[in-house]
Amino acid sequence: MNTKCCAACGQKFEPNPHSPRQAYCSNPTCQRTRKRRWHKEKLLHDPDYVDNQARAQQAWCSRNVDYWRNYRGEHPDYVEQNREKQRSRNAKKRGKLIATMDVPNSQNNMPELRSGLYQISPVPVSMIAKMDLWIVEIRVLSRASMPHPSL
Ligand SMILES: [Zn+2]
Repeated sequence: MNTKCCAACGQKFEPNPHSPRQAYCSNPTCQRTRKRRWHKEKLLHDPDYVDNQARAQQAWCSRNVDYWRNYRGEHPDYVEQNREKQRSRNAKKRGKLIATMDVPNSQNNMPELRSGLYQISPVPVSMIAKMDLWIVEIRVLSRASMPHPSL
């Protein structure tokens, strides 16, 4: 039997009779080394291979995008779960935001708001800036405890 020296591990091995030029033993690590070296060599000296690799990569990426898009379409539970998680993250964020804001209440200098007739008027847009909120001004016209003069 003609034995060879593995190009990776240096151990003696018997090449497969169908591939007498085999330079690496069948050890998986050595086979990975062989593939890696082959790939490197190709990248260095074969522009067609480089081009193919780039195309394959691109194709894989677009397949992957489709894969996730389809996955979401076919797994509404997964989507709903993620939405739930995002909602609780948002709620936590909101909770922090409110905690750090000085929330006015009747103990501060805010006048006590009673039930009654209120006038609601718009605030100029420039004052709202880019806030994603409705801001209304509430002006007390009459209080339930005080009869309105015109009534
Ligand atoms: Zn080997």
